[in-house]
Amino acid sequence: ARGASLTDFAEKIGVDAAALVQMLFSLGEMVTATESVNDETLELLGEELNYVVEVVSPEDEDRELLESFDLEFGEDEGDESDLAIRPPVVTVMGHVDHGKTKLLDALRKANVVAKEAGGITQHIGAYQVAAEVDGDERRITFIDTPGHEAFTAMRARGAQATDIAILVVAADDGVMPQTVEALNHAKAANVPIVVAVNKIDKPEADPTKVRGQLTEYGLVPEEYGGDAMFVDVSAKSELNLDKLLEAVVLTADASLDLRANPHQDAQGLVVEAHLDRGRGPVATVLVQRGTLRVGDSIVAGPAHGRVRAMLDEHGDNIEAADPSRPAMVLGLNAAPSAGQNFIVVEDDRMARQIAEKREARERAAMQAKRRVRRSLEDFMAS
Ligand code: GDP
Ligand code: MG
Repeated sequence: ARGASLTDFAEKIGVDAAALVQMLFSLGEMVTATESVNDETLELLGEELNYVVEVVSPEDEDRELLESFDLEFGEDEGDESDLAIRPPVVTVMGHVDHGKTKLLDALRKANVVAKEAGGITQHIGAYQVAAEVDGDERRITFIDTPGHEAFTAMRARGAQATDIAILVVAADDGVMPQTVEALNHAKAANVPIVVAVNKIDKPEADPTKVRGQLTEYGLVPEEYGGDAMFVDVSAKSELNLDKLLEAVVLTADASLDLRANPHQDAQGLVVEAHLDRGRGPVATVLVQRGTLRVGDSIVAGPAHGRVRAMLDEHGDNIEAADPSRPAMVLGLNAAPSAGQNFIVVEDDRMARQIAEKREARERAAMQAKRRVRRSLEDFMAS
């Protein structure tokens, strides 16, 4: 919680920030909700609230847990020569009704890496498409959970899944509050933005106006001397989708070094997970490094298991998934949350031990939050 504002802290423990301000006031401390609070203040609150304030972040704690098993999340192993180019991972963001879902559907329908003609695509939370750029076939991975909720949920866990953001702006509507919000999220995460100026099939579309508006927010189109690529598209008429994909690849090539080592045990992120009535817990994961294989023992957040089967976006069984590839994993004992990490470990025993420790920690954190809420209620009532 170090350096966090009172609002952040209140949110973390699930209480009202105003109540904390009031409590601190009664303890002789004047703190506003948005001010960042120091450890002493947090400890003071903790004493009063009967709560052990964690000065160690959950991320640090998890790192220590993995270290105790001689594991590390988030680093490629091996030498330069082991690194291979991986596809960019793209999130679509933008204001409500500007066409995020329509665009993701159009891209999936038109370009999902074809296996057999007429192959039915399955909604697994992420998919890969093929784009032709300068005569080469290039792949792009899309996170298929539109809106920046998924993006924010992942970032809140310190997970960065996205390499590039497509900012969808409807050309008839222009820049709206959530456009700016999405823009700020991407900027804060240091993620390059490609702008899809959508709905240009509409007679009232004004793509020039969109360019002008975004320029004011510091997102300057290349044609105005800036470094952001803008592509006029219509998700409805499936217009210029190939140009949009090309812009994504060119942006990736120009500003990112997207490589990962496929020759190691897999690690990555959970994109979405749910409990399927027939198949049990299923999780769509995004492999970030290494290669995930059927038979691997994995721990994903507080869930663990052995990969019994993997499916791709066509619903076809696959044996292995390399970096940037999304795969639906069967065989976990529970459904982890979006944004939690997964990591392949030596054996089932180790996976279970790590999962159990994480679960115990989550449980303890929840109990502590409940205790805090009770103490705060008592304080407010007195
Ligand atoms: P989201 O809220 O950003 O996911 O927006 P949707 O994809 O749900 O689209 C909102 C509405 O705009 C729907 O009625 C879509 O059919 C429509 N729409 C999306 N893209 C286009 C487009 O390129 N042209 C036109 N005319 N309508 C579009
Ligand atoms: Mg939508």
